[in-house]
Amino acid sequence: MSEDCIFCKIASGLLPCSKVYEDEHVLSFLDIAPISLGHTLIIPKDHYERFEECPQDVAANLAKCIGKIAKAVLNIVDAQDYNLLNNNGSSAGQVVGHVHFHIIPRHRDDGLLGRWPASEMPKEKLEELASRIFQSIE
Ligand code: 5GP
Ligand code: ZN
Repeated sequence: MSEDCIFCKIASGLLPCSKVYEDEHVLSFLDIAPISLGHTLIIPKDHYERFEECPQDVAANLAKCIGKIAKAVLNIVDAQDYNLLNNNGSSAGQVVGHVHFHIIPRHRDDGLLGRWPASEMPKEKLEELASRIFQSIE
């Protein structure tokens, strides 16, 4: 547990939450400031700040339950679709420094989270970049 982490406090029961799922390793609860009805957070009970810091078993335990939680959320709030979002680092919009996934229920034409500003890139540049990344993965 990290001393001043709000999600660690929720995971350990020191702070309350609107819980939707819990197992030995994972806790899921409603976001306190939802983007849409049913906006849900899924966290590992152990403290890791960013996704790439999670050991494989921690990531696997999250992956195991995300789908079934999303299915239940969509069913209950009668939504068609959802975004699965995981922000890592402040430039990417992470505010709470304890790894978490957002399930954001979506409805047709709800106007939330518009398309990102895509750009064009020459094929050679893509190939060159991909090759450098490919070679650097450990
Ligand atoms: P981030 O921007 O870090 O990916 O998202 C953090 C999310 O946590 C935000 O959507 C915010 O509303 C939510 N949040 C922050 N504090 C609390 C809290 O004390 N309880 C709950 N349920 N959600 C919180
Ligand atoms: Zn924490």
